[in-house]
Amino acid sequence: MDKKTIRDISLKNKRVLARVDYNVSLFDGFRIGDDLRIKQSLPTLRYLLGKGCTLFLAAHLGRPEGKPQPKFSLKPVQKHLQTLLGKPVGFITDYVDDKADKSIASVKPNSVNLLENLRFYPGEEKNDPEFAKKLAAYGEVFVNDAFGVCHRAHASTVGVTQFLPAGAGLLLEKEVELITKAITHPQRPLVVIVGGAKAETKIPLIGSLMNKADSILIGGGLADTFLKAKNYDIGISQVNPAMVGKAKQFLAASGKNGKAKLILPADVIVGHLDRGKLFGVEPAQDIQDDMDSLDIGPKTLVTFGKIIGAARTIIWNGPMGYFERPEYATGTEFVYQAVAENRDSFSIVGGGETLTALPKEEYLETIDHVSTGGGAMLEFIEKGTLPGIKALQKSS
Ligand code: ADP
Ligand code: MG
Repeated sequence: MDKKTIRDISLKNKRVLARVDYNVSLFDGFRIGDDLRIKQSLPTLRYLLGKGCTLFLAAHLGRPEGKPQPKFSLKPVQKHLQTLLGKPVGFITDYVDDKADKSIASVKPNSVNLLENLRFYPGEEKNDPEFAKKLAAYGEVFVNDAFGVCHRAHASTVGVTQFLPAGAGLLLEKEVELITKAITHPQRPLVVIVGGAKAETKIPLIGSLMNKADSILIGGGLADTFLKAKNYDIGISQVNPAMVGKAKQFLAASGKNGKAKLILPADVIVGHLDRGKLFGVEPAQDIQDDMDSLDIGPKTLVTFGKIIGAARTIIWNGPMGYFERPEYATGTEFVYQAVAENRDSFSIVGGGETLTALPKEEYLETIDHVSTGGGAMLEFIEKGTLPGIKALQKSS
């Protein structure tokens, strides 16, 4: 990477403010659903500790929208990090009222300290310079290791770089290198799989993915907007009306002039979330009026499975269905299996919920890279960089 990394910065015994991605899923308010993101930050933390650094870790959890909310506290993450690191981790709950000096004085040298959820403060997402300055006060050096939030220009990704020498952590560096490898001169066929819920952010990225991939498999909630664009009857499935036009445009260009072929579900599993009932399989063009499409259906699995099996490069973000309920998890589990079993491909899987949906730990052995970023990964593929990466100094 052409940016400074922690190997280019002098770190000995310094205070380091490190942005990490600990946006994990919590169940019952405290049980961590999936700790892959926390585990992936450990090499950087250990590297910095080995240099004698004192660490202040900054992270967010969920969408507390600028105010403290106990259910979004990082306290469970602090406890889990302690276990993983085998060393105490301090917890700093209030860091805006010019308390940096006091809390810095109170921590031991070479210790690890986690700041409470950044998004409890409105200044974080607004990239408020005052807030960024207060955060920056914790470090003498800033390290960004949170690829999954680099597509957001927030105080903790971009703002703080105004105040501190900044470089990429080991995980961020690895993410950038592996994703770059997958998209520059990829082994073909290059198959991109997109799903999940965020139609407004993901659909616009499909246009540029069509210039790079051979096929794009579309599942999850995202597919409903494409089915709508084909004028199918889709019942009460969630559509993003603002994105239907774009979806039509992409469908018209599918497979033409060297562009990727878009593959939509041929059938879906329909149900009704409120009534909590599984209703069965329906063709994608003819979903009953009061039904919601919640997973991809069996014919679609066969088609997707064949294309994934023949791929030489695979990039996947977004679950294929409402996997949080087991009756709608089959599509996502099947795609995981298909990706993991294709040992001839270079495969990258990323995204918060996508990783939460991982059905078997052993799949991680054959998936080449598990990215902390979903939206960030797709945007990086489109633009070749991200605001949080751009903000890091160039290496000289
Ligand atoms: P990621 O975090 O991996 O980038 P997203 O945040 O875009 O993924 O979306 C994940 C969410 O999408 C999951 O919570 C899942 O339940 C939901 N989802 C996927 N498919 C459907 C569907 N067909 N209907 C409703 N929700 C869906
Ligand atoms: Mg998500």
